[in-house]
Amino acid sequence: MTDYLAQKYLRPRKIPNTACSGCGLGQLHKAVVKAIDELGLGIHDVVWGTSIGCTGRQTFATWRGDCFAGTHGRVYAMATGLRLGLALEKKIILTVGDGDAFGIGLHHLLNAARRNVAMTVVVGDNLGYQSTGGQYSWSTPQGAVTDSSPYGMREPNWIQDGRDILAMLREAGATFLARHTSLEGESLAQTVKQALVNNGFSLIHVPFPCVTNFGGTALGSREPVEMFRWMMGGIGELWKTGVYYDRSNSRPEFTELVRSIPTAPLGGLPHG
Ligand code: SF4
Repeated sequence: MTDYLAQKYLRPRKIPNTACSGCGLGQLHKAVVKAIDELGLGIHDVVWGTSIGCTGRQTFATWRGDCFAGTHGRVYAMATGLRLGLALEKKIILTVGDGDAFGIGLHHLLNAARRNVAMTVVVGDNLGYQSTGGQYSWSTPQGAVTDSSPYGMREPNWIQDGRDILAMLREAGATFLARHTSLEGESLAQTVKQALVNNGFSLIHVPFPCVTNFGGTALGSREPVEMFRWMMGGIGELWKTGVYYDRSNSRPEFTELVRSIPTAPLGGLPHG
């Protein structure tokens, strides 16, 4: 994070954060803050939330403006409630992990997409449950050795064999979907800007290097350069990157829809 961005947007006592040395989270974090800055937004224009795990813990609480944390997988429902009470021009950004978004919270996530609730979800994907020691998750590459798959993960994940979690979110009703690894910092920042100007549900999937657990166990090296090289090789192979779907501002946002419905007395549903 450049000094300029850190001084302008982040809490001094939270810098540096407690991520492991060489972790790719810093790249993700910087891209999101850079996007905020380039859109001319201030600390009072954004509410930043998370659930639990490395991705959220290292990002949301650094924000000098309003921030909040939910229980695992539930932050999308909390953000929906918050959205209903918040001024429409305020942005909600959620930085969450792969287990949170694509596992335990998937049901809530799909319903936020269905409702087209204006929020930007940045899924920082460290390829497993890394804050608890490195167990496999719904996005771990098949065959990877992890703490809970010592002979290699057998089950297929959400992003292989022609399957893509982004396709499911598109079907659910999301209006902006993209994927970049954290190594593609400038592209990621520009895509976050696109996501933030969509008055609806946006999600960006961001695989990033976990040098400590995934690197150490699946790749046999905690050297950041080894993990970064492996991830670069995975672009196009493991992860198709770029804007996946953009129907920004194409259908009503949930809060506006709710507020536009005239209050009817009980039993006052319209007749056919
Ligand atoms: S455990 Fe992995 S993802 Fe978590 S902070 Fe360390 S390197 Fe980053």
